[in-house]
Amino acid sequence: AKVAGKNCHRFYSRAMDQAVERRVHMEQDLRGAWERGELSLVYQPVYRMSDNRLAGAEALLRWQHPEHGPIAPSVFIDVAEQSGLIETIGPAVLRAACVDAMRWTDEHPGAGELFVSVNVSPRQLRNGDLSEQVAQALADTGLVPERLHVELTETAVIGDEIRASTLLGRLRNTGVKVWLDDFGTGFSGLSHLRRVPIDGVKIDRSFVADVLRDPDDLALTTAIIAMAHSLGITVVAEGVEKEGQYDILRERGCDLAQGYWLGHPMTMRDFMQLLG
Ligand code: C2E
Ligand code: CA
Ligand code: CA
Ligand code: CA
Repeated sequence: AKVAGKNCHRFYSRAMDQAVERRVHMEQDLRGAWERGELSLVYQPVYRMSDNRLAGAEALLRWQHPEHGPIAPSVFIDVAEQSGLIETIGPAVLRAACVDAMRWTDEHPGAGELFVSVNVSPRQLRNGDLSEQVAQALADTGLVPERLHVELTETAVIGDEIRASTLLGRLRNTGVKVWLDDFGTGFSGLSHLRRVPIDGVKIDRSFVADVLRDPDDLALTTAIIAMAHSLGITVVAEGVEKEGQYDILRERGCDLAQGYWLGHPMTMRDFMQLLG
């Protein structure tokens, strides 16, 4: 057992070295990736449940590594966040999403005033100039603020609640809508809704996945919807993969939905096809 333990230790430390090395390489490769055109946005359609019509789309970042192919966002965004590279990638993403949303209406006036929803990392909020970045992206592109939604995870707004509220307040003063992403997975839960100024919550897909078979998840989801609505907050369900999930969420009064059953993330070109 002793020998095995020793080997085991060696194995893990080697594995750890490799992981560190991979991150360092990834950070180097990620530097300048936007400028080289390796990063791009795909769009996942979001539907309004009251009339089943397209309401907008979430912008999701993709990295096509020249040697290793597509890298999962959960991996490279973490690297971008830790290394600080997100501070240049973040504003570029915001601006690109606004440019694309302008094209949706320019080229398809019948599509209506679709929103574009952009993910923002905790570091972008904490650095304090997110509202300036947003205002700049709107000014540069001419997009009306109401059409831009900013998605922040719960973890970005827990901790220093007063500071978070100030920053979110400033962000909302630009006229954009602020949505809390992955809602229900953090520590804050429903009580948070009263204290931070937000426009919407996105119910995490781990709850949505179980609404048909776990009565607790259905009860919780129903409670989130009721409480959010009593505070004037919009509710989005993410990760809708089955018709039954869509139906039951709709019945419970959920406002918007996205997920593989409704549409996978797709290229700008494919999204434009969807607009007619
Ligand atoms: P997220 O914001 O929660 O985005 C939703 C993720 O769920 C996306 O993964 C999407 O492809 C996936 N998804 C959508 N519908 C379904 C479904 O029906 N079933 C399942 N199982 N999954 C579904 P993706 O694109 O891999 O992105 C992962 C995460 O990376 C995002 O999670 C977000 O936190 C982050 N991310 C993506 N783009 C950006 C960005 O531009 N900036 C920042 N800061 N983070 C980003
Ligand atoms: Ca999101
Ligand atoms: Ca999410
Ligand atoms: Ca469950």
